[in-house]
Amino acid sequence: MTQPRTVLVVGGGAAGNAVTVLLRRAGLGVDLVEAKDDWNATAGSGITLQGNALRVLRELGVWEQVEASGFGFGSVGITAPDGTVLHAQDDLRTGGDDLPATVGMQRPRLQRILIDAVRASGATVRLGTTAEILDNDADGVTVRLGDGTEARYDLVIAADGVGSATRAAIGIADRPEPTGMAIWRIAAPRPAALTRTDLAYGGPAYIAGYCPTSETTLYAYVVEANRDRASIPPESYADEMRHLASAYGGFWPEITAHITDPAEVNYTWFDRMLVEGAWHRGRVVLIGDAAHCCPPTLAQGAALSLEDAWVLSRMLTGSDAWDDALFQAYYERRIARVRPVVEASVQIGQWQLDGVRDADVPGLMGRTMTMLRELP
Ligand SMILES: Cc1cc2nc3c(=O)[nH]c(=O)nc-3n(C[C@H](O)[C@H](O)[C@H](O)COP(=O)(O)OP(=O)(O)OC[C@H]3O[C@@H](n4cnc5c(N)ncnc54)[C@H](O)[C@@H]3O)c2cc1C
Repeated sequence: MTQPRTVLVVGGGAAGNAVTVLLRRAGLGVDLVEAKDDWNATAGSGITLQGNALRVLRELGVWEQVEASGFGFGSVGITAPDGTVLHAQDDLRTGGDDLPATVGMQRPRLQRILIDAVRASGATVRLGTTAEILDNDADGVTVRLGDGTEARYDLVIAADGVGSATRAAIGIADRPEPTGMAIWRIAAPRPAALTRTDLAYGGPAYIAGYCPTSETTLYAYVVEANRDRASIPPESYADEMRHLASAYGGFWPEITAHITDPAEVNYTWFDRMLVEGAWHRGRVVLIGDAAHCCPPTLAQGAALSLEDAWVLSRMLTGSDAWDDALFQAYYERRIARVRPVVEASVQIGQWQLDGVRDADVPGLMGRTMTMLRELP
């Protein structure tokens, strides 16, 4: 009997967890290494999962848990800074008509669901561990794990996020670049009448928005121009976000009253990156933010990462030959879908930075989302 192929997954975020579950289900031997000791320590309060992300989560077998833990909705409102609703439109159901258009979730809850799925899959998980590529040839990869042991794998999947050390180790020089925007985020209790995302354009920030994440919670965010991070001490985060948020009406005063603890406020810049040409070298292949990242103006980063995991796992389990041709085909299939999303996400932010008032944001969003309805 031939031995099942072995795969090392580097990074236990959405992409790494998803690909682990899917490859284990096909009977492959999967080890996952995650750099953090606390695997569930996720940055950011909430996440907006579009239908195409939900479609992959259903494939993973966790849709019922996501549905029960999150908050599904099907429209988005555009408001004036004072909270007056100017326009509300139905969101496209990018995961198909049998899934909601959107589910908001608390990030730690999503991560917990995925961690449990990885544990149940029987993969070997090592926390607080990284992997160093020692040898990468046409047949496999020899790695040294954080505990000093060496192991040989048929494939290494780099799912170690936007700052991927594995990407750099295989000689792919791309790095994330700031788009010029930064975001303040916080979780807060959900007012009962707040049942969808509303976005206010204008006011002191480019965007002020919120998304319900459960029956009792939401996350809220304010987007402004980048500032020198060193000039904003973390202990002032609540004051900074509250100052911006207090200019907005509607549900915002209720939300703003909860922006009190600087440790609960997350501040980060928007980045963009798209690795072009190939997402592999030898038997090391990139998925998720390690290959591409975009500002969350379309809320598609995790969705694309989950799609990468689904597509790559299907291609790996459907082919005997794990070779350049297969990995190049994976790249071609993904780049055709990822590039327009990254470009549209960056463009929407750039229009705001440039103060373009008559930009066709709904048109660009509509075309991109329509494309994403197709299976990846
Ligand atoms: C402000 C903001 C808001 C966003 N909002 C949304 C949204 O609403 N909807 C959406 O779909 N997307 C959103 N995204 C994008 C989304 O967060 C990412 O696309 C997604 O988390 C990428 O998943 P990943 O698994 O590829 O990487 P990550 O989630 O970054 O996971 C990488 C993992 O690898 C680990 N790791 C790193 N280095 C190593 C190493 N050397 N060895 C082992 N492990 C390592 C890390 O600890 C981490 O656990 C947002 C992003 C930002 C910045």
